Amino acid sequence: MAAAVIGVDLGGTNVRAAMLNRAGNLLAPPVQHPSRAQEGFQTTLEQILKTIREAIDTAGEMPAAIGMAVPGHIDSSRGVVRWAPNFGEQRGEIFEVWRDVPLADAIRAELHLPVVMGNDANLAALGEYYYGVGRGQARGLVMLTLGTGIGGGVVLTRHQVQGNAQWNGGVLLVGASGGAGELGHTIINFAGPRCGCGARGCVESYAKRDAIVELAREAVRRAPNSLLHALSGGDPANITPALVSQAAAQGDPTALALWREVGAYLGIAVANFINIFNPEIVAIGGQIAKAGAPLFEAIHQAVRDYALPTLLQDCQIVPAERIEDAGILGGAALAWQYVEAR
Ligand SMILES: [Zn+2]
Repeated sequence: MAAAVIGVDLGGTNVRAAMLNRAGNLLAPPVQHPSRAQEGFQTTLEQILKTIREAIDTAGEMPAAIGMAVPGHIDSSRGVVRWAPNFGEQRGEIFEVWRDVPLADAIRAELHLPVVMGNDANLAALGEYYYGVGRGQARGLVMLTLGTGIGGGVVLTRHQVQGNAQWNGGVLLVGASGGAGELGHTIINFAGPRCGCGARGCVESYAKRDAIVELAREAVRRAPNSLLHALSGGDPANITPALVSQAAAQGDPTALALWREVGAYLGIAVANFINIFNPEIVAIGGQIAKAGAPLFEAIHQAVRDYALPTLLQDCQIVPAERIEDAGILGGAALAWQYVEAR
């Protein structure tokens, strides 16, 4: 029985890696280096390899496999990055983003270890399923990761499909080419604001970090006597989601109304997920999820208004437990699935 795997979280700013055991415990603190995502594939590859090698050295043993979380459209069956807009290099006038990059093979060739990979938000859901609120046994978990954008993942079990499903435990829904689970682009209003993806009214365009900040700035302009305005020092440029939470915790009606609004948008999206997947758990992760009770109460309210009641009865909507290190944990969960299937 293998003793450990490496989980790797490749981000646009940093690449982090740590060795984990089967229970999802980190055997040593994560190793971190800049990913140098805008300097071309070779440079980023070197940063990834350096980070993994140091994580192996720090833990002092060889992993059975490497599992990597990568932001973008990832074809996990081939280990290919189909499209990753945060990575690439400048060529003359244009910035060429990663397209069809065989990342898993490149790492395998250097480290001589099995490499599996997937989309970061998808894997965050898988990590949360096995090492967080899913406890490795929930009958389906849908997760939203709230941050700069809104990522998502869907973990299904055989209890949620009809027919001859043989697997045990939770498996990720990845779709035909690995792109499934883009829950942030669930459209909640066909006439809504333009989203970064080109569509209109995606839940991401309402509840991503910058949209929340913009709503908050508008709210303090209308409420110059609010606590939120005072906490910002009178300068709306100082408003962050954390500041909104701070004001909400002190009962500021402006801040509370803001989380109610954001929660309503998220709740409509969550109601759709409940109706489509009938999950036992909907987990909300990412830094914005730290807004806590005011946000979750509003999500619950909207879900009560929009989800099918009997499906809602069997579903808990809860904060993710493993918000930090989500990518590393998800990579490790995927690596363990690989190791155990061999
Ligand atoms: Zn979108």
